[in-house]
Amino acid sequence: MQDVDYIIVGLGLAGIAFCEQLENANKTFLVFDNGVDGASRVAAGLYNPVILKRYTLPWKATEQLDIAVPYFKKIERKIHANCIQELPVQKVFSSIEDQNNWFAASGKPELERFISPILIPDTNEYISAPYSYGKVLETGRIDIKKLQKEYQEYLGAKNAFAKADFEHSEIECTDQGVIYKGICAKRIVFAEGYGLKKNPYFMHLPLVGNKGEYIIIKAKDLKLTAAIKTSFFIVPLGDDLYKVGATFNWNDKDTIPTKEAREELIEKLATLISCEYEIVDQEVGVRPTVGDRRALLGMHPEYPQLIVFNGLGTRGIMMSAMLATHLFNHVENGEDLMKEVNINRFGKKAKAS
Ligand SMILES: Cc1cc2nc3c(=O)[nH]c(=O)nc-3n(C[C@H](O)[C@H](O)[C@H](O)COP(=O)(O)OP(=O)(O)OC[C@H]3O[C@@H](n4cnc5c(N)ncnc54)[C@H](O)[C@@H]3O)c2cc1C
Repeated sequence: MQDVDYIIVGLGLAGIAFCEQLENANKTFLVFDNGVDGASRVAAGLYNPVILKRYTLPWKATEQLDIAVPYFKKIERKIHANCIQELPVQKVFSSIEDQNNWFAASGKPELERFISPILIPDTNEYISAPYSYGKVLETGRIDIKKLQKEYQEYLGAKNAFAKADFEHSEIECTDQGVIYKGICAKRIVFAEGYGLKKNPYFMHLPLVGNKGEYIIIKAKDLKLTAAIKTSFFIVPLGDDLYKVGATFNWNDKDTIPTKEAREELIEKLATLISCEYEIVDQEVGVRPTVGDRRALLGMHPEYPQLIVFNGLGTRGIMMSAMLATHLFNHVENGEDLMKEVNINRFGKKAKAS
């Protein structure tokens, strides 16, 4: 029998962040990931501390960013993977009023660090931005697909990774922890993203899920060096490739690319760019979203050795490191969870079925 301190299910942004906590604390662990779906594999990977619809900050954005950027840089050095890139994010203004709202926001104490008050004129002949751009400061992009692949290899070399479906029916809870297929662990952390819906211990939590689709285009003449935001993003990937999207669909929860999303994005793109392009791919993921836009952290009410780390929603890059530390301190050191992210806020409904 193999003995470990933790089993982790899922190696997306949440799973990686929890692995980092365990490594820092010299805990032993084994990660299961089936490599099938997952929001992290699809995400454009932008980190941007400002909500660009309203020019406000998301929950604890400054704290999250101050933790997230050094966290990803540290992983990059540790696993020798180049996956973080500083990338400007420019908001296309829709009107003079929109510009004025931006200037008003740039003068607010909590936002002045992140919103540049200098207008950026539109100099790209293939882009239509008659009211210019505003630039968000301290933005960038994580190549999450690459991070996941390299991190998986890093864990694999330490015999800490198994590419396999985790079968919840094989869990045996004991007084000491859990036994899973002959592996004894003190605890299991479920970081399954939307896969939580198949987890009988936590499936009753109100994870809503939101399907997002991108088209990937090749546009030789576009030559963008910043991510551009209007009602959607265009994110440069290099080699004249761009991610365009993503859509938001609250009804579908599968990962099948749709004609509707493709057409929606083509239509929107036509309002912004005028150069020729070719669609080379379409990608789909389900964001692990919760109605109150807060994460899902905590222990199962009957089996405290079973722990959930989910609900990173649309901003997994900024949130994952801060929340992993918070969850670890709760589990290992008995610190209270913030009420906003504690699964107890939904009552004690999470039961094994
Ligand atoms: C279209 C789209 C665009 C996005 N853009 C951004 C962005 O630009 N910036 C940003 O910060 N966030 C973005 N997000 C959100 C971000 O992707 C998520 O917040 C984050 O990836 C969630 O990470 P996670 O680890 O919780 O879940 P996931 O990434 O979904 O990881 C869960 C993992 O668990 C595995 N798994 C599940 N069940 C099992 C099982 N039973 N056995 C084995 N393995 C299992 C899955 O294969 C998967 O690898 C985007 C999301 C989408 C869908």
